[in-house]
Amino acid sequence: MPAKSINDIVALCKRRGFIFTGSEIYGGLGGAYDYGPYGVELMRNIRNAWWNTMIYARNDIEGLDAALISNRLMWKYSGHEGSFSDPLVECKKCGARMRQDKMKDPTKCDNCGSTDITEPRAYQLMMGLSIGAMANGEINAYLRPETATTTYVNFKNVLDSKPHKLPFGIAQIGKAFRNEISPRGFVFRMREFEQAEMQYFVNPNEDEKYFEYWKQNRMNWWINTLGIPAEKLRFLPHEKLAHYAKAAVDIEYAFPDGFDEVEGVHNRQDFDLGSHTKGQGEFKLSAHVMENKDSTVKLAYSDAQTGDSFIPYVIETAMGVNRAMLAVMLEAYEEEDLGDGKTRTVLKLKPWLSPVKAAVIPLVRNVPEIVDLSNELVDDLRKLGIGKIELENSGNIGKNYRRHDEIGTPICVTIDHQTMEDGTVTIRYRDTMEQERVKMDDVATKLLQIIKQ
Ligand code: ATP
Repeated sequence: MPAKSINDIVALCKRRGFIFTGSEIYGGLGGAYDYGPYGVELMRNIRNAWWNTMIYARNDIEGLDAALISNRLMWKYSGHEGSFSDPLVECKKCGARMRQDKMKDPTKCDNCGSTDITEPRAYQLMMGLSIGAMANGEINAYLRPETATTTYVNFKNVLDSKPHKLPFGIAQIGKAFRNEISPRGFVFRMREFEQAEMQYFVNPNEDEKYFEYWKQNRMNWWINTLGIPAEKLRFLPHEKLAHYAKAAVDIEYAFPDGFDEVEGVHNRQDFDLGSHTKGQGEFKLSAHVMENKDSTVKLAYSDAQTGDSFIPYVIETAMGVNRAMLAVMLEAYEEEDLGDGKTRTVLKLKPWLSPVKAAVIPLVRNVPEIVDLSNELVDDLRKLGIGKIELENSGNIGKNYRRHDEIGTPICVTIDHQTMEDGTVTIRYRDTMEQERVKMDDVATKLLQIIKQ
């Protein structure tokens, strides 16, 4: 049984060092979390899986890592400065502030049930910055609220440095910041979070084909790569489209409280490159864009065969990495009944996702030969380059097994007196708890096989 409540995951994350409340010792800061020793590993594995699929497995997508702080003009012309806002309402009775479009019933306060609530007002979601000695507290830059715009403004830079024919894409993984009205759901809605987004530039007459392609491609990734069961995922097409979008669909995961968004796939037409390009008047744009007199670069594509210069359409895939990690943990979490009133908590992660790939445990810690052999095995396994290998030299064996079950370590390997005699060790498997005696020299090969599953 996967976790029944997000609280199961919150408790495990704190107890085992996946995620801590940000600024915790000073009372915390709403919507900010710190990732601990095992959380950083799991996030890294998810990021790597996305990067492998999006970039290393293909010829047509390049990577980018743009700055988190950016010129105000970028967010003026993207439309964020004027309209990246949520409708904020306030309860006059209890003072609760809520995002109107996410309320259970927009006529009643979510907190106290009062119907005495204010009219909605637009609440700017971007975090403004005052940068430089001359700024005097005036907002002259923003923390980016998404990676996408920082990709569009680099369209020409990437294309000039690595020529591509359409269609081709640019992918980024990185932090985004939004002054969310009510952060909630643990890491589901934060003020600082991480996105993995890819912008695919296509010929305007091929947009529908590639929108369908990326919709399916991303859904398949959630199922086949992350291992989320297909029945726990669904598409939710947007009925009300943003002014720039021609089509949009969310990929939703069945969280314990119901389906909610984990990734979006959008057909953004020529809105983005059209908004940021110099010389807008030269192009026949489909999207309605703000007049741009500040851009210094034409963000157009020249077709070498026809000689045409035009603004490509964009198909965007936008995933939240923190939400992906939350979904993966919810799915992997199991509380097993071991009989006699005993239970164990285990994270049945796909082994390649596990924060620790193997733990090596010297059964006796005061016999130098056993400790030496344990270190030798740790060194051998580290040479595989598959991630974190831990040497356990504290606590008793039962406690070690329990800890590694809870953080999802696929195998624990025990070194004991017999190892000194015949070179064999005990492998204990996380999912079955079965134990097997094998040659120490065979552990690396076995671990590699397990990681490939
Ligand atoms: P929502 O409707 O939940 O506010 P959105 O539609 O504004 O999200 P996008 O701008 O499409 O989200 O961002 C892409 C992805 O980034 C989302 O699918 C989600 O996984 C993630 N994301 C967005 N906002 C947050 C947040 N505040 N905290 C964590 N992840 C987020």
